[in-house]
Amino acid sequence: VKQKGRDSYSFYTEHLTTNAQRKAEMESELHRAILNNELMLQYQPQFNLNNEELVGMEALVRWNHPVKGMIPPDLFIPLAEESGLINKISEWVCNAACQQVRIWLDKGFRVPRVAVNVSGAELMGGNLLTNFTSAMSTHRIAGSQLEAEITENFMMQDVERAVGLVNELRDLGIVIAVDDFGTGYSSLAYLKTLPIHRLKIDRTFVREIPNNVNDMAITHAIIAMGESLGLEILAEGIETREQQAFLRSKGCSLGQGYLFARPLSAENIEGWLAH
Ligand code: C2E
Ligand code: CA
Ligand code: CA
Ligand code: CA
Repeated sequence: VKQKGRDSYSFYTEHLTTNAQRKAEMESELHRAILNNELMLQYQPQFNLNNEELVGMEALVRWNHPVKGMIPPDLFIPLAEESGLINKISEWVCNAACQQVRIWLDKGFRVPRVAVNVSGAELMGGNLLTNFTSAMSTHRIAGSQLEAEITENFMMQDVERAVGLVNELRDLGIVIAVDDFGTGYSSLAYLKTLPIHRLKIDRTFVREIPNNVNDMAITHAIIAMGESLGLEILAEGIETREQQAFLRSKGCSLGQGYLFARPLSAENIEGWLAH
């Protein structure tokens, strides 16, 4: 028993060490990545589901690693949030999005609103407002060109603080969307008090339409509730015509998903932009 105990203990510590080492390595690489400009943004178009007009784009960060290739955000954003690097990344994202909008405007494109994902860590302790205001002034971008996507859990962590911050963003003309709606714990009572414009229905509810009646019922309920609160509703992760038709029939007028377009590089998305 003693022998076994020691083995599992050493296994445990070894496991911890390698995990911690991997994390530390990634952290320092990520630090370097920000300095070396290895981060990049892709943009996923958002559409009016009724006439399929382009209404916006969501900026999604990627890490273009010199050896490992393209690393998706789910693999490094959580780590960045733990280590505090998220503040640097958020600053980079805000600036890069505004810089890109300026490039498109200078090329003569009509640029729809660009949505930026805001990290909860930023909302609670970061420089959210400064990130937006300084990127906007550096690149001469109006707040009406921008949208902030904030997950509901973070709004709920400290509602009073969230209301204050969201109001300041709104005052700049920035549209406020609640991201991943339906997956967290927001109460309907709070939803009413948050000064938001838009709800984004999480992809997990859209994914199994039309096979999962529960998901269809939930989606329908979110749309009805959002409508009655005067909010715009955008469904994410639309992959089929059936999903689009169902969402439209329930009154959801906005959407994004692989059915229409995947996230694209700034260059490739120019094909979607009008002059
Ligand atoms: P999210 O904000 O919910 O973003 C939507 C994710 O769904 C994106 O993954 C997008 O590529 C993917 N997606 C869009 N349409 C479809 C579809 O039709 N089918 C499927 N299967 N997937 C679809 P991505 O780009 O890997 O981003 C993952 C998450 O990483 C985001 O979830 C967001 O939470 C976070 N993230 C991305 N960019 C940033 C950023 O700049 N800052 C922060 N703080 N977080 C970010
Ligand atoms: Ca998002
Ligand atoms: Ca989402
Ligand atoms: Ca998500």
